[in-house]
Amino acid sequence: MNVHDSEKMAGILGAHGYVPAESAASADLILLNTCSVREKAAAKVFNRLGALRRLKDRNPDLLIGVCGCVAQQEGDAIFRRAPWVDLVMGPRNIAQLGLLLRQARLEGRSISLARGDDPIVFPSETTARAPGPRAFVTIMEGCNKTCTFCIVPYTRGREVHRLSAEIVREVRDLAARGFCEIELLGQNVNAWREGEDDLASLLRMIDRIPGVLRTRFTTSHPGHLSLRIMQTFRDVPTVCNHLHLPAQSGSDRILRAMRRGYTRGKYLSKIDYLRREVPGMAFSTDLIVGFPGETEEDFQATLDLMRAVRFDQVYAFTYSRRPGTPAAAAIERVSEAEKSARLQRLLSIQDEILGERNAGLVGRTFEILVDGHSRLDARVAKGRTRCNRIVHVPAEAPLRHRLLDVRISRAHAHSLTGEPLGRAPAA
Ligand code: SAM
Repeated sequence: MNVHDSEKMAGILGAHGYVPAESAASADLILLNTCSVREKAAAKVFNRLGALRRLKDRNPDLLIGVCGCVAQQEGDAIFRRAPWVDLVMGPRNIAQLGLLLRQARLEGRSISLARGDDPIVFPSETTARAPGPRAFVTIMEGCNKTCTFCIVPYTRGREVHRLSAEIVREVRDLAARGFCEIELLGQNVNAWREGEDDLASLLRMIDRIPGVLRTRFTTSHPGHLSLRIMQTFRDVPTVCNHLHLPAQSGSDRILRAMRRGYTRGKYLSKIDYLRREVPGMAFSTDLIVGFPGETEEDFQATLDLMRAVRFDQVYAFTYSRRPGTPAAAAIERVSEAEKSARLQRLLSIQDEILGERNAGLVGRTFEILVDGHSRLDARVAKGRTRCNRIVHVPAEAPLRHRLLDVRISRAHAHSLTGEPLGRAPAA
């Protein structure tokens, strides 16, 4: 989501005549797009601003801006803490970037933060898209959930659902420009609604757009994963067989304290349904370890959940206390040392599971969409399966943005190597 917000900002800058600089030292404008989900990410912003101060001393015409969730959370306190900052802009205010820049140049400083239910403008016409076959499309902003650990509802505000006609127009335009894999984005993406239409209806509308070959959506809340949405994985050809479904914990006691609104049993029943109905369905998840009050028994329940689901990918985090969230007031904290130890235990179990899962894929065939090449070797193409696995394929000729059938020949810790079986038509 933050990557796509940066694409929106880059597009607005392009429309105002800015071009990318070679380095920070040669830039006239530096914007930091920030995240405040965990304390470490927020702290990084002020370290980085400290380093940028030297550039400002050398070049007083340089404009420095702080955008994103740290901007929304800290507001004009950023000007007090780092007086060399010229612009502060919240994540819901991206469409005003051009105006804020003009104001900062003319008046010295500018700030724009969303309040309450301010309308959001989606600058889809100008968005600068990263090269490749895949494009992000925002379908909603904000989050109405009340998870006790999470800062997002405070920084991104309440949910605003974009109109389907606008979304379909953006996807149609992207498909006409050759983007064949569309990833729909929203903090609570599967809560999207427009009257009687839900995400399942929207996925069906997108499926009918010529040129769209694959659709994904991120991030889903288990509580909003309706039967209708689950059936699209089985029934709508462009919907890829991978779902990112944050579980956060495997313990019902902790899920209740997090106010997640589902139980471990409910979560597992949805996974079971999809496994039964959709061939090769893959799952990834987010897990938090060391939430206040998490006992060894609760933590074991999370490990059991991992063993039961055998996720294809796990993003695991130690709990980070976020000011203003309900969980921040908890007194029953888990020590930093214990949190880190639990994280290491969890990651090593996941590595084991992934190793076994990857080894089990050797000899099987997948369709990949080539999106680039290996970082280490330009003669090795890189693509993703529909189930979101990264596969490297030796390629004599460039295979950019093609669909390719491959047979998996080797399994590695976090990726797979495949041999091409034949080429599908250019995507
Ligand atoms: N909206 C999604 C949801 O709630 O499932 C994802 C929101 S968040 C941007 C991405 C992930 O960061 C969460 O799924 C959670 O695992 C993690 N996260 C959020 N707040 C956290 C906190 N206070 N400490 C540690 N991890 C956190």
